[in-house]
Amino acid sequence: MRCSACGTTESNTTSSALLLAAFLWLQAPLERFERIEPCMGTLFRVVVYAPTAASATAALDAAFARARALDAMLSDYRPDSELNRLSTRWSPTSPELFTLLVTARQLSRDTAGAFDITLAPLVRLWRDARATRRLPSPAELRRARRRSGWRRVHLDHARRLVRLSPGTQLDLGGIAKGFTAGEMLALLRARGLPHALVAASGDIVAGEAPPGSPGWRIKPDWTNQTLLIANAAVSTSGDTHQWVEIQGERYSHIIDPRTGLGLRHSSPVTVIAPSGAEADALATAFSVLRRDKAASLLRRRPAVRALWP
Ligand code: AMP
Ligand code: MG
Repeated sequence: MRCSACGTTESNTTSSALLLAAFLWLQAPLERFERIEPCMGTLFRVVVYAPTAASATAALDAAFARARALDAMLSDYRPDSELNRLSTRWSPTSPELFTLLVTARQLSRDTAGAFDITLAPLVRLWRDARATRRLPSPAELRRARRRSGWRRVHLDHARRLVRLSPGTQLDLGGIAKGFTAGEMLALLRARGLPHALVAASGDIVAGEAPPGSPGWRIKPDWTNQTLLIANAAVSTSGDTHQWVEIQGERYSHIIDPRTGLGLRHSSPVTVIAPSGAEADALATAFSVLRRDKAASLLRRRPAVRALWP
């Protein structure tokens, strides 16, 4: 409809009002909002800068809903997760799970198998050892090792299908938190809130720096050094939090695929990488690999950095 006084149409007026509202929203000073919720067996903390409390609340609700949905897909603890429903038959998968399986396979190849999501039978033996304070028997170890190996996951890229070799079980514990943190950050960005940080204990993904600051200050728990990070992911692995002591020997929750047992003498490592999944998986892998092996891998990935004590 045309306005007789000014000659504009109603739809013109509405779009101008919308543009003005969007302009004012973008110009509003950004405030800091924070929320912490349990997910994937740890606490996820999200910090986001937003123009209004309402926009922050809606975005945080959506980000945590995304984390819960990913947990339902990727968890090895939930019998009904998409991960646990994979079998020896070709199965269609969600884009998220398929992406993670492709990334995990690539990282297994690049780390000579140090990162391996098929170690689930050995991870279960480690959990039993933690509960009983007894190491698995050589026969148990042999059986579990026979069911492990990253080549046991078969991917049909054209049709996004997955098949497992008989006896294979998967455990995404070394990559899922970083991946999920990255997905949550992507969701906040898509809602126009790029100044955000998602931290799932040692797996952190940072977006644009806080307003007026050069970056997010991140201090891995094994060092006094503070990192200044923006648009990058930082993951720390090591046995600071999860380990079991048996007969005077300390075994980390990270499995050495060469022995099938938890790592001994594992030192912490922090990885800075472009994506949460990559930082998370490489931090786990670099705990297993000797430092010179990790250094040669780093030379082939110039966008990745690692810090050791
Ligand atoms: P992170 O804390 O990210 O280093 O991951 C450790 C978790 O990843 C463990 O609790 C296991 O669930 C799983 N995991 C253990 N060893 C490996 C390994 N060598 N490669 C991949 N995942 C592993
Ligand atoms: Mg990891």
